[in-house]
Amino acid sequence: MPTDTCAGCGAVYQNNLTCETVFDDFLALEFTDAAYGEVHLLTVACYMIQHGQYSDDALVWIEQQLRDHLEKGIPAEQIRQKAAKETRQDRHTWRVARRKEDKPQEKIPWSMTILDVALQYQDSESYRKLVRQWASITLSEMRPLLPDPK
Ligand SMILES: [Zn+2]
Repeated sequence: MPTDTCAGCGAVYQNNLTCETVFDDFLALEFTDAAYGEVHLLTVACYMIQHGQYSDDALVWIEQQLRDHLEKGIPAEQIRQKAAKETRQDRHTWRVARRKEDKPQEKIPWSMTILDVALQYQDSESYRKLVRQWASITLSEMRPLLPDPK
């Protein structure tokens, strides 16, 4: 049995679900069904943010992508293309992934996690709604992870 609380995001495990297994299931669902795949960008971003997998540079970058999508309404596909281009171009100046030797990311008491989505969704419509809600909460609660505004 895994421990009953996620070491990454603090979610309390229920119904034998763990963040990792849920994430794997969600990715499979999103890759096979476009009605779920629509929110793929948000699922990956939120999971990575809440589990401390982005470097400090990447956190600043992904926060901007989430803001562009959720607040300015820029389509996910456009963000995906831009992101692919930017991460490729900037490969030599900054890394996306947080490394083991980096300082661990500060813990945030997230008010919604991937498990909340897993336990509540019933179909693709409620899935998309819950993932968007999870993304909005993640975006507003990730502020302490970002550098102070200059
Ligand atoms: Zn977790």
